[in-house]
Amino acid sequence: MKDNQSAVLYEQACKVMPGGVNSPVRAFGSVGRTPLFISRAKGSKIYDEDNNEFVDYVCSWGPAILGHAREEVIDVVTKAARDGLTYGAPTKREVQLAELIAEIMPSMEMLRLVSSGTEAVMSAIRAARGYTGKDMIIKFRGCYHGHSDGLLVKAGSAALTQSQPDSAGVPKAYSENTLIAEFNHKESVEELFEKYKGKIAGIVVEPVAANMGVVLPQENFLHFLREITLENDALLIFDEVITGFRLSIGGAQAYYGIKPDLTTLGKIVGGGMPIGAYGGRKDIMEMISPLGPVYQAGTLSGNPVATAAGLKTLEILKANPQYYSEMKEKAEYLANTFREYGTHSGEAVHVNQVGSLLSAFFTEKQVTDFESANSSDTKKYAVYFNRLLEQGIYVAPSQYEAMFVSAAHSWEEVKRTAEIIKGKL
Ligand SMILES: *Cc1c(COP(=O)(O)O)cnc(C)c1O
Repeated sequence: MKDNQSAVLYEQACKVMPGGVNSPVRAFGSVGRTPLFISRAKGSKIYDEDNNEFVDYVCSWGPAILGHAREEVIDVVTKAARDGLTYGAPTKREVQLAELIAEIMPSMEMLRLVSSGTEAVMSAIRAARGYTGKDMIIKFRGCYHGHSDGLLVKAGSAALTQSQPDSAGVPKAYSENTLIAEFNHKESVEELFEKYKGKIAGIVVEPVAANMGVVLPQENFLHFLREITLENDALLIFDEVITGFRLSIGGAQAYYGIKPDLTTLGKIVGGGMPIGAYGGRKDIMEMISPLGPVYQAGTLSGNPVATAAGLKTLEILKANPQYYSEMKEKAEYLANTFREYGTHSGEAVHVNQVGSLLSAFFTEKQVTDFESANSSDTKKYAVYFNRLLEQGIYVAPSQYEAMFVSAAHSWEEVKRTAEIIKGKL
């Protein structure tokens, strides 16, 4: 595979941007090579500056659930752009998008659009603190909730593969109110509620953890979180930035049948454009300015071009419920492929999969929490990554990110991918 153009761009990029990238995981550091610069994408395929073609299982880290550059989405975006890029005033599409989100996720009785997942979670936590009058928040080791100061504690995603899992530049005072529990370990949550009685505003959790690789909630874990928050007058915040509109159209909350107090969205909700959203119980959301005392704002919030992409994407997903069963079947097929590969090669592989999300961990352990995820052999992952890339398959350049199947992946592509995974092509 030639990557001359990417190599030249990377060299230029490194002079003007830290590590040559605008988000750390793109640097390919943990797979021992330099990044490919992407020039275009269509459907399930992406193309780099050297015109190499790849079947894309990164899907922009989740948003591209319909595949890339879907015609109906591009049409509305193009039209919206012609009508002006931003006004800083309310628009009809914001109302339509908010209504559609609330219809799909009934727990979001009232919501706010923002411009990223980071902003959504940061704002939801401010709302939770404002509403409860308490300061402390419980998060789980290995869960990622964006890069705001108070949440960069034992975070997942690129924070796992970079040398500083806990960021420099975060004052201790900012993270002091962030308590860390272990995913799938009920006792660790109970202990915190006992120790900090009456001080905990809420729990924020990825209902399916997808930033330490995909880690599923064990039976009753999410129900337990619902109960313990209710017992302690604390709020349950589901960070559905990845799982929203992916696990099912109604997200993890519909999939597992749990009603959180607040929900945060990102990725798919923008259909490839920058949108985040947070919302939930009306009495909590009425705390937000200008109705209430919790301040939160954004110059480009509810941007007219972005809402066009988000609205059309959600409309297409809603009109095509079969996408979810199809994506799930393809993800299951890939998961079984990894298991077969593990059995035949003698390689220790543990696979977690739910809906269109999956991860193959290079470890002997069942992966149920941060510690077991972290037992993975990242060097083996790097070998696997490079082998696939050379054969035209683009997967996440990190053991700790999910593999995403989209509605645009054909069976033919999935089966070819499977042959490559098994080393038969
Ligand atoms: C990606 C992600 C975020 C952050 O969203 P950005 O748009 O990158 O700021 C927050 N929470 C979860 C679960 C995510 O996967």
